[in-house]
Amino acid sequence: MAKQWTRRQVLAQMGIAAAAVHTLDPHELCCTVPAYAQTAVKDLFELKKVADGVYGAIAATRYKTNCNAAVIMTDAGVIVVDSHSTPSASRAVYTQIQGITKKPVVKVINTHFHWDHWQGNEAYAAGNPKLEIIATQKTKENLTKPDAGVGGVPYIEKQLAALPGEIERLKNDILKESDADKKRNFESNLQQAESFMQELKQMKPALPTRTVTTTVTLKEQGREIQLHVLGRGHTDGDLYIYMPKEKVIATGDALIDWMPFLNDGYPEDWVQTLSAVEKLDFTHIVPGHGEVLPKRHLTFFRGYLSDLIAAVKKASADGATLAEMQTKIGDQLASKYEAGMSKYPLARYRDSIGVNVEMVHKKVVKKV
Ligand SMILES: [Zn+2]
Ligand SMILES: [Zn+2]
Repeated sequence: MAKQWTRRQVLAQMGIAAAAVHTLDPHELCCTVPAYAQTAVKDLFELKKVADGVYGAIAATRYKTNCNAAVIMTDAGVIVVDSHSTPSASRAVYTQIQGITKKPVVKVINTHFHWDHWQGNEAYAAGNPKLEIIATQKTKENLTKPDAGVGGVPYIEKQLAALPGEIERLKNDILKESDADKKRNFESNLQQAESFMQELKQMKPALPTRTVTTTVTLKEQGREIQLHVLGRGHTDGDLYIYMPKEKVIATGDALIDWMPFLNDGYPEDWVQTLSAVEKLDFTHIVPGHGEVLPKRHLTFFRGYLSDLIAAVKKASADGATLAEMQTKIGDQLASKYEAGMSKYPLARYRDSIGVNVEMVHKKVVKKV
């Protein structure tokens, strides 16, 4: 049963009285966007049918909410994969689900612990006290560790500590900006940041009630859903949700239509894990960010990771500095990857290549 704890109660249970005041480093901003980014003002989500009774809730490219959900109908109720950054975002998806079925949401599955994929869990828990929230054991541990990375209960405090500064900067940007379109965009981002902060203050974190450590099959009244634990990648607790009959897989951020975020990841393992994913028989991918993808996107995305690792290893062996590597590798891989990794206004190739090179250098070459 999903209890409705306040975030303070959860922190107290964990023995963390209050997180230290923390300024978010731009490097920590997984799956989010800089304040100057041009972001969407249209509806939060669009439910796109992927197979019979299976939908991708594809998020608009907004400032504070841009993670997708997968929505799976069963005879017993609805299963939702990932819950975005806020309860209000989950409620927006739920409203759309109700346009298709009046059945309750009976299970939420979190693909990993990052803030933008689980902070809305409580919206579903509030509507159904018997709700099951499923994640890997590692993800459950990461959700309550003080230093797991860009997600978990302690990270709510970090976001709250950083937001007043972010809001001040946006207010200054609005005052200084003379271009009307850019000003409107800043104003929209300011409004989103302010309401995001209000929601974070009220948050009652709903943590996993059931964990898996190896691949399991759920027999869900009329539908088979396999939960695959295939190794480290985007995080050490990634979960893949695979439906063999429908040939659909939901991948969280382990396979997305943006540049990958490597800061909490394991680059070399990630390549191997994606090869294990590839062995599954599917035609459609519901990724954590971006549109529904065909299977061939896996080859492209994995190719980027392995080419990036090889390029960093080579440049490092040749004695290049980090700054040299960032420029050189950015140019070197551009012809193959820049267009395919820059389809949206967020997390494009040139926005992310520098940090990606730095992370591979740190994790693969220096092994820290
Ligand atoms: Zn994400
Ligand atoms: Zn993530």
